[in-house]
Amino acid sequence: MPNYDYDLFVIGAGSGGVRAGRLAAMTGARVAVAEEHRVGGTCVIRGCVPKKFMVYASEFSNQVKTARGFGWTVPEPTFDWKTFLTAKDIEIARLSGIYVTNLHKAGADLVHGRAVLKDAHTVEILGEHAKTVMAEKILIATGGRPTVPQDLPGIEHAITSDEAFHLGALPESILIVGGGYIAVEFAGIFAGLGSKVTLLYRGPNILRGFDDDVRAHLAGELERRGITVVLGCEHDRLEKTAAGVVSHLNNGMSFTTDQVLFATGRAPYVGGLGLETAGVALNDSGAIKVDDFSKTNVDNIWAVGDVTDRINLTPVAIREGAAFAETEFKGNPTSFDHDHVATAVFSQPPIGTVGMGEAEARKAFGKVDVYRAIFRPMKMTFYGGEERSLMKLLVNPATDQVVGVHIVGPDAPEMIQMAAIAVKMGVTKAQWDSTCAVHPTAAEELVTMREKYAPAELG
Ligand code: FAD
Ligand code: NDP
Repeated sequence: MPNYDYDLFVIGAGSGGVRAGRLAAMTGARVAVAEEHRVGGTCVIRGCVPKKFMVYASEFSNQVKTARGFGWTVPEPTFDWKTFLTAKDIEIARLSGIYVTNLHKAGADLVHGRAVLKDAHTVEILGEHAKTVMAEKILIATGGRPTVPQDLPGIEHAITSDEAFHLGALPESILIVGGGYIAVEFAGIFAGLGSKVTLLYRGPNILRGFDDDVRAHLAGELERRGITVVLGCEHDRLEKTAAGVVSHLNNGMSFTTDQVLFATGRAPYVGGLGLETAGVALNDSGAIKVDDFSKTNVDNIWAVGDVTDRINLTPVAIREGAAFAETEFKGNPTSFDHDHVATAVFSQPPIGTVGMGEAEARKAFGKVDVYRAIFRPMKMTFYGGEERSLMKLLVNPATDQVVGVHIVGPDAPEMIQMAAIAVKMGVTKAQWDSTCAVHPTAAEELVTMREKYAPAELG
């Protein structure tokens, strides 16, 4: 038996790596976690957390309008980007520090530098703290990185979400490319902060993969908030001029904006990691191939989180990391169940969704009962606001089971967390309806939808 330095070496101190490393170390195992950038990973440093702070910051402009409708006299507000960035960076540093402390408290070593596999048990740390260590087990939790179309002329003039957190100034105008989570979230952020926003998506409607009513409803609400949504076209090239970045599109249109943000997806971060040397296989989409227990094709190497491209969300990376530690360090074989994972899009208004969309449910069950409500929330009706919320339930008529819940409107992310418990437990529509409403709330609409929406012939 070789003389290993560690029982477990984790590459990447993000959501998945930190959770797995901490839990393993707390069993008494000798654990090290390597990080080449800042502890906390995408979520804490350049993802969920700073993004949510930006969402909070941007929501105030709309809240000021609402306040006026309720009788407040509010002078025209101004926003200072630099003040916000400074406060945001202080809070991110504090949170990153907590991650470091928690790793130390659990007894894990933190190794600063880039880790590269030399073989299935050997890891070389590059940089200032260069060294080589041997570990019995290795966990790869290196996450993902933004991808942009590299062959697009002028792409070097565009930014990604990574840079959006550190812009020198708030752009007066911004063109955001893509129709996924990051594109719609940043469209709301910049519009709320006062930028003129254009959202450009190549397909027929934003948020491919979400329920079609959700997609249409959100697109309408984004436009109501002053965001220009341009569909069905792509860039031919970008050009930098004194006036800004010019986007030349394939439909002949061109826009000049201060910034162009490409939110065109993320790819597993596997480059230069030494995977070939260690014999770790990738799947067809370039992610590390793993089984239900997050084990790779190499017997002592596992991978969790975005680098495996299963469901690329923080809580999923955390649960995959926890399941790995439970299995390998507590002797309790555990695999994370990827079914019915709820998700929220922090657009404005936000989305909460769990389970299938209508098209997917029809494909799966042939028939589906649809319950749908579109309404102006109470707060809006009071002052004549036009924003509408959408709530939609999908039920399998053969079993009466609720197979999808979709909400667009204020507090949708908070509501969907609770709805997900019931859906995960296999709740029927009859049980759902037996739940008494909480009044006056928007959420009560969810338990008072009695009439089927779809015409009978659609079933
Ligand atoms: P990461 O958190 O990316 O951590 C990987 C770490 O590994 C990084 O710190 C990296 O520096 C390090 N690393 C990589 N290679 C090496 C190496 N060779 N040596 C040493 N260190 C290395 N998810 C949600 O659930 N909710 C949200 O609201 C949300 N918002 C998001 C907003 C944005 C803008 C983005 C980009 C993502 C968002 N996500 C959100 C997704 C979420 O951030 C990821 O799913 C999650 O961070 C994945 O965790 P991970 O552990 O797999 O990887
Ligand atoms: P998404 O996969 O959600 O969206 C990518 C978008 O870019 C799609 O609309 C896609 O179009 C489009 N696109 C891809 N390639 C091109 C191209 N070459 N030219 C033009 N458009 C293109 O990725 P994001 O970057 O928005 O986010 C990455 C992941 O991070 C998310 O999928 C999610 O898992 C996670 N995340 C989660 C958040 C949350 O939980 N709230 C927030 C932010 C990120 P098409 O649909 O046609 O392929």
